[in-house]
Amino acid sequence: MNIVRVALDLPLPTLFDYLAPDAVESDVGRRVTVPFGKGLRTGVIVELATASEQPDAKLKEVAAILRDMPALPAEWLALCEFCARYYQTPLGEVTSFALPPMLRRGKLPRIKKPAAKIAVSPAPTFDAVHQPPLPQLMPAQQAAVSAIFATAGFHVMLLHGVTGSGKTEVYLRAIDAVLARGGQALMLVPEIALTPQLEGRVAARFPAAHVVCANSGMADAARARGFLEAHAGRAEIVLGTRLAVFMPMPRLQLIIVDEEHDASFKQQEGLRYSARDVAIWRAHQSDIPIVLGSATPSLETFHHATTGRYQMLELPERAVADAMPVVRIVDTRREKLQEGLSAALLAGLQSRLDRGEQSLVFLNRRGYAPVLACPPCGWISRCRRCAANLVLHLADKRLRCHHCGFETAIPRACPDCGNVDLLPFGRGTQRLEAMLVERFPAARVLRIDRDSASTPKKWQALLATIHDGGADILVGTQMLAKGHDFPLLTLVGAVGADAALFAADFRAPERLFAQLMQVGGRSGRADLPGEVLIQTEYPDHPLYRALIDHDYARFAQSQLDERRIAGFPPFSFQAMLRAEARTMEQALAFLAAARKAAAAIADGVTLYDPVPMRLQRLMTLERGQLLVESPSRPALQSFLTAWMEQLYALKMPGGLRWHLDVDPLEF
Ligand SMILES: [Zn+2]
Ligand SMILES: [Zn+2]
Repeated sequence: MNIVRVALDLPLPTLFDYLAPDAVESDVGRRVTVPFGKGLRTGVIVELATASEQPDAKLKEVAAILRDMPALPAEWLALCEFCARYYQTPLGEVTSFALPPMLRRGKLPRIKKPAAKIAVSPAPTFDAVHQPPLPQLMPAQQAAVSAIFATAGFHVMLLHGVTGSGKTEVYLRAIDAVLARGGQALMLVPEIALTPQLEGRVAARFPAAHVVCANSGMADAARARGFLEAHAGRAEIVLGTRLAVFMPMPRLQLIIVDEEHDASFKQQEGLRYSARDVAIWRAHQSDIPIVLGSATPSLETFHHATTGRYQMLELPERAVADAMPVVRIVDTRREKLQEGLSAALLAGLQSRLDRGEQSLVFLNRRGYAPVLACPPCGWISRCRRCAANLVLHLADKRLRCHHCGFETAIPRACPDCGNVDLLPFGRGTQRLEAMLVERFPAARVLRIDRDSASTPKKWQALLATIHDGGADILVGTQMLAKGHDFPLLTLVGAVGADAALFAADFRAPERLFAQLMQVGGRSGRADLPGEVLIQTEYPDHPLYRALIDHDYARFAQSQLDERRIAGFPPFSFQAMLRAEARTMEQALAFLAAARKAAAAIADGVTLYDPVPMRLQRLMTLERGQLLVESPSRPALQSFLTAWMEQLYALKMPGGLRWHLDVDPLEF
C-alpha cells in the first residue's frame, strides 16, 4: 500500500497519513492537496510509507500531488525538521511558515516573460572599463576576506567592526569569491527597510548576477518567484530578512548575517525562531562558512568569539571618517532642562545650524507623551484591553495603545471628573519635534519614527530628504540607528536613555549600548568629525564610560561577568512557557499544573514559579509565564520534548492558550 506522510499547518505535533496510489519516492518534498475535515488543505509530503498506524478504513486518499515545481530538497526538509524539534513546534507549522504564502496555498506564480531590456543591452560582462575600480581594502579587511575561505567547510566568524569600518565591503568580496566558484550566497539583514538600499548596492556590484530579495513586505507573486529562482539555483544571491533563512539554495556556499545582534532576527509569534541561530545550524548542515557581522555583537556571540568557539575577525579602523565621533556625557542632575534638553545640547544644535550641518536628537519613544492625565482627580489614559497606558499622539489627535493598536479620540474633558485641563506627562518624539520647531524657527525639523515612516515608501522619502540635506534637525527613534549613511550629520544628542539602565529585562543594557553606539555611528563622515552628547543623571555609569572610550569589549566583559554570576545566558539556556486566559487565576493555574507535571522529568533543569507577565493584560487576555532554565542545552532540549507531550495532555479552561518560547529574548 502506498501511503504519504503529510505535514499540515495545524497546531498538532503529528503527521497525517493519506493513501496515494501513484506516489513515488521523488514525490517526497512535494506539496500535496488532501481532504481534511470538510475541506481541502495543502501540505508537504515528508515521507512515503507502506503501512500506517491508522486503521486502513480510516485512511483517505490524497486529492492531488502537486508536481508543478521541483520537489523541495531533503536539506530543506531537514532544516524544517530541526526547527520543529528545537523550537517545539509542529512540523506542519514550520513547513507552512517556511514556504511563501502563494506556494503554501498550493498555487504557483505566473512566470514572467524575459524582460525586453535583455534583448536591447548586450550580455553583461565584467568589463573592467565600465566597472568603477574596487575600493582599496585596508589590511584588516583583507585579513577578514582571506579568513573566510582560509579553511574549508563549516566555521562561524564574528566580523566585529564599528559603523564605517567597512564590513559591507568584506561581505561583497566574500560574495564575489562565491560567485566565481559558481556558488550561491545568502545574506540576512534585520530590517525590510534596509533591503532596497542593499539590493541596489549588490546589484550594482554584480551586474551579471541574479539577485533575489525575500521579506514579508513583498507582493505574494514576487516572493514566490524569488523562492523558485533560489530553489532552481538561478538566483546567485539571496538578500532578505529573517524568513530568507528558509530559502532553498542547492549551491549555497556562504551565509552572512549582518547586524547579528538585532532582536528582529527572533520572531516573537508563531514559530519563535532565531534566524541567526537557524542560519548557524544551516551553515553546519551545508558545511560552509558563516559570517556574523556587528559593531555590538550579542553577548552570546561575543562570548563564543572570545572563548574560541567562533573565530573573531576585528575591523578596528574606521574606513570612511578619520576618527570616531567624540562621545560626551552631559550631567543633567543639577540642571533645569528646557523641555528635556540641556543647555549643552541646545548650544550644539545651534552651532550645527550656523554651520549648515545636520543634527539628530535620539529619543526612543514615539508619540507626543506616554500618557495623558488629570492631576486633580488622578485619572490617566489607560487602554481598556491592556495593562498599559494610552499614548498621546497630537499629530492626529488620538490616544493610542502601542501594544494592541486600540485608539480613540482625545477626550475634551476628564471622563471621571469633567476637568478640561488634561495634561500630557513625559515626552515622546512628537513633543520634542514641537519644542525644536518653536526653539529653532528657521530650522527644518524632521521626525522619523514608525508613525512618520509608516510605509516603506514614506521611509524611503524621508531618507532621501535627509541624504539630500533637506533637513537640519532630525528627531527620531531607533529606526534611525540602523545602517544608513547621513553625510551631513555631525551631532547626535541622546535623551531619555537612562530608563534602560535599570529595566527589569536583563538584556536592556545590552540593547541600550547597541542603540547608542549605532546612533552615534551615524555622525561624522569623511572630513566632518562627529560628536555625540548623552544626557544622563548617571554620568559615572560603566555603560556610558565604555561608550566614551568606544570600548565595546570592556562593556561586554562586564556584562558577561554579571551574567555568569547570575547564571543568565550565555551561561544557561532558557525556555519560557506563556499562557493567556480570561483571568490571571486560570493562566497561573495552568502554569502551576504544567510545573507539577514537569516535576518527575525535570532532570538538570530549574523551573521557576509561574508569575504574571510584565505586560499583564494584552487584548483583554491575562498573561502569565513560567521560566525554565538549564546550564546544559541538551538537558533542556530533552526535558522540553518530554514536557511538550504532557502539556498537550493537560486540561485547559475554555479560552486558554499557551505557547513555548525557546531562547526567549523578551521577558
Ligand atoms: Zn491595548
Ligand atoms: Zn479628572
